[in-house]
Amino acid sequence: MTPRVVVIGAGAFGGWTALELRRRGAQVTLLDAWGPGNARASSGGETRVIRATYGTRAIYTRMAIRAIELWRAHDARWQRGFYRPSGAIWMFGADDSFGRASVASLRAANMPIEELTPAEAAMRFPQITFDDTIQSVLWEPIAGYLYARRACEHVVERFIAEGGVYRQAAVPAPFAVAGGPVRRIVTDAGDTIEADHFVFACGPWLGRLFPDVIGTRVKATRQEVYYFGTPPGDARFNDPQMPVWVDYRERLMYGIPGNANRGFKVADDSTGPELDPTTATREATASGIEAARAFLTVRFPALANAPLLGSEVCQYEASPDSHFIVDRHSGASNVWIAGGGSGHGFKMGPAFGEMLAQYVLGTLTPDPQFALSRLVAAPAGGWEAKWS
Ligand SMILES: Cc1cc2nc3c(=O)[nH]c(=O)nc-3n(C[C@H](O)[C@H](O)[C@H](O)COP(=O)(O)OP(=O)(O)OC[C@H]3O[C@@H](n4cnc5c(N)ncnc54)[C@H](O)[C@@H]3O)c2cc1C
Repeated sequence: MTPRVVVIGAGAFGGWTALELRRRGAQVTLLDAWGPGNARASSGGETRVIRATYGTRAIYTRMAIRAIELWRAHDARWQRGFYRPSGAIWMFGADDSFGRASVASLRAANMPIEELTPAEAAMRFPQITFDDTIQSVLWEPIAGYLYARRACEHVVERFIAEGGVYRQAAVPAPFAVAGGPVRRIVTDAGDTIEADHFVFACGPWLGRLFPDVIGTRVKATRQEVYYFGTPPGDARFNDPQMPVWVDYRERLMYGIPGNANRGFKVADDSTGPELDPTTATREATASGIEAARAFLTVRFPALANAPLLGSEVCQYEASPDSHFIVDRHSGASNVWIAGGGSGHGFKMGPAFGEMLAQYVLGTLTPDPQFALSRLVAAPAGGWEAKWS
């Protein structure tokens, strides 16, 4: 019997899961309210960082290493170059515990990671100011960035080419689970789709679809990203002369080198205020732009007066402990909930899809670290979308 699966949500998690289910022989229908990598989705940005540095969170180091293998394999197959291995330079202040733990776990996994003094780093990257606030530096050569929204679109194109069915349609929220297996869903257009398994990979919308088991436990927080213009003819801030960079001190600032002629990306990882992912206006704030420029003035002084070329306002879909959520609905064993990317999910897409496809088809046991039950016991507050 060919299992029939409906996947709702064609972002990084749902798109790859649908593709991997299809490749394992399932009959798969993928739905998305606004399309893969749309401008409201958490996966809808131009680019996302990929790195395997995860401090003590070994589960994500392993998953990121597998994801890098799969991004490389798909780039070789699709010839699209979604994975850009620019490397990443990590800058730490007095507390470099995240860096030290990452070095240990990367070395244990036989992955390259280099420890530099700030002086050595300054020789390598003279366009960055390594002042005395930076006390240690790491160079992660396999890190880089991904073309995010374009990869989401392409994954759905490949999914269709490999025999999947895609429909642009929404499943109305909330999604009622009456107890016992779900047999069908009805879209907002009134179409009924029957299946054996249902995967809800709806990112920041999961709480409103499942107010009972998710509710406010996944928070959509407003995150701004800025693109600054580099001087004409000056390639020092572009890939390949500039890598991904992370300034990991009291506040975590990070960015992606100029690429695809879009400018030099700067972002603040601090958790922003909550937003409604459907109705939010996505316009950057003057205070956010000013703070990004103040940061550039110190760390990248040649860009102090760089013009702002554009911005993105996206959202983290933050779980209380910033761990992913991948589990069955407690009221229906054939309904899967997948999300809680918490500011670090995009890179994992291919590895996540491979994992969840096997969970759904019953060929792999779900990892308890992603279980919904932990959220019930989660302390109030403490929502933090961290890199650690
Ligand atoms: C500014 C920013 C920077 C980030 N940086 C990084 C990074 O550098 N590296 C990294 O790995 N990750 C990063 N992330 C996190 C990463 O982008 C997300 O964790 C990941 O994209 C989440 O994917 P998703 O598929 O769970 O959600 P989404 O991409 O939001 O996909 C959910 C999809 O579900 C659809 N949907 C929702 N409700 C319904 C419904 N009822 N019916 C039908 N369809 C529905 C939506 O239209 C959407 O397309 C960042 C996120 C942001 C916002």
